[in-house]
Amino acid sequence: MRASDLLCPRPEGLYCPPGDFYIDPVRPVPRALVTHGHSDHARSGHGSVLATRQTLDIMGLRYGEDFAGATQAARLGEAIDIGGARVSFHPAGHVLGSAQIRVEHRGLVIVASGDYKRQPDATCKPFEVVPCHVFITEATFALPVFRHPPDTEEIGRLLKSVGQFPERSHLVGAYALGKAQRVIRLLRDAGYERPIYIHGALAKLSDYYRSQGVDLGMLHAPTVEGGKGDFAGAVVVGPPSAAQDRWARRFPDPISCFASGWMRIRQRARQGGVELPLIISDHGDWDELTATITETGAQEIWVTHGREEALVRWCELQGIAARPLHLVGYEDEGD
Ligand SMILES: [Zn+2]
Ligand SMILES: [Zn+2]
Repeated sequence: MRASDLLCPRPEGLYCPPGDFYIDPVRPVPRALVTHGHSDHARSGHGSVLATRQTLDIMGLRYGEDFAGATQAARLGEAIDIGGARVSFHPAGHVLGSAQIRVEHRGLVIVASGDYKRQPDATCKPFEVVPCHVFITEATFALPVFRHPPDTEEIGRLLKSVGQFPERSHLVGAYALGKAQRVIRLLRDAGYERPIYIHGALAKLSDYYRSQGVDLGMLHAPTVEGGKGDFAGAVVVGPPSAAQDRWARRFPDPISCFASGWMRIRQRARQGGVELPLIISDHGDWDELTATITETGAQEIWVTHGREEALVRWCELQGIAARPLHLVGYEDEGD
């Protein structure tokens, strides 16, 4: 059988005819398999959702418990037969609960990675290489210019700045699912023990991370009673949009920081008014993407969301068949 008979792009998302399901559909469908909780991959309104327990919990927190007609939790590594297809979930190292989805039918194996990274991250399970015939990779940062430095180095730069400017606060923009908790955890691992202030938009997910055993130390809501002096020298973490809000005015002379793989592009940092760009990404960089493609042993690569052409070209130079998938509706919520 051809690989495109096992998984094929449709307007709703990646469709599996033998199993009659979609992976990360962007429109409501009867049966969805979901790789992770970022809103461009995990949407509400499906008839049924199969995902890891943590992804289902995260969807429930974001959309309410009735986000799907029915749900089923997939245990990592456990095979489930759906129609003529055998599926299993494997860690993707992207955010808590994130998984690649392996689909097998008549000896043909396709792995849909969802979003993934290879850098160590104490807030989720590490990426697992799953051998396959066809590997579907993301391409968010698929240009050789994207090389993410170690996250510990970036957090070191943040802490150095905190030490240099004890009267000012540091306002760190980080997405609510994954990035924010990772930044907090990195600060703790670097020995930062003071309370960290978090924006209300991060509270529910941070509590959930803690319930799953991710130690984030003492987190406070930044209440305004004591005046700006309370936040001298403080580290405050909020969603990227919050830096422009009224909310940010309570902090003394804040230094605007942003934790994102896009911070590699200086112009992007400047345009966003970011004084201290932190290159911390939950997506693989060029080296991680190309190394992963090689490690899967796949003879064929399908490339989706991001810079498809560069990675397709790289594969061809290695003698690996590759093509862009051109799926629509994925907006990179997570970085
Ligand atoms: Zn994505
Ligand atoms: Zn994501």
